[in-house]
Amino acid sequence: MSTCEKCGVTGNVPAGCFDCGEALDQRLVELSPTWRQRFAAIAKAGGPTLVNLRKCPLGQRFTALFNFPALLFGPLYYLFRGMWRKALSLTALVFGIALIMQVIAAVFGLPEESFDNVVRIASIVLFTQQANLTYYRKMVLGQNGWW
Ligand SMILES: [Zn+2]
Repeated sequence: MSTCEKCGVTGNVPAGCFDCGEALDQRLVELSPTWRQRFAAIAKAGGPTLVNLRKCPLGQRFTALFNFPALLFGPLYYLFRGMWRKALSLTALVFGIALIMQVIAAVFGLPEESFDNVVRIASIVLFTQQANLTYYRKMVLGQNGWW
């Protein structure tokens, strides 16, 4: 549904309404309130591709994308949530970025560790902002793939 018949919220998913629970699958109803809010925010942003993210208020973007345990634990958090494929993909991506940065450092004659902080920040940002989206794919869309 794009508009909930019960509470009138628009932009929700075919799975049902995360705001009031109307027509929502039982295992999604049983999610914690935090996850329901995150999923509602992601749904309103147009799903995990976030096509409508720019139309969303800042607080809603934050709810959709921020995940503190993922920020702290990175790939371990993904494993804990059973999203090991995505954990591997993101880890590979971070190694790829690190490799490219090393090549750039070598080309410009910079010390090898010049871009370590760039890689660290890229890694934290990736693992943090992909966590809710990946869990949404898994729980709502039934996709638990590599990306
Ligand atoms: Zn509703």
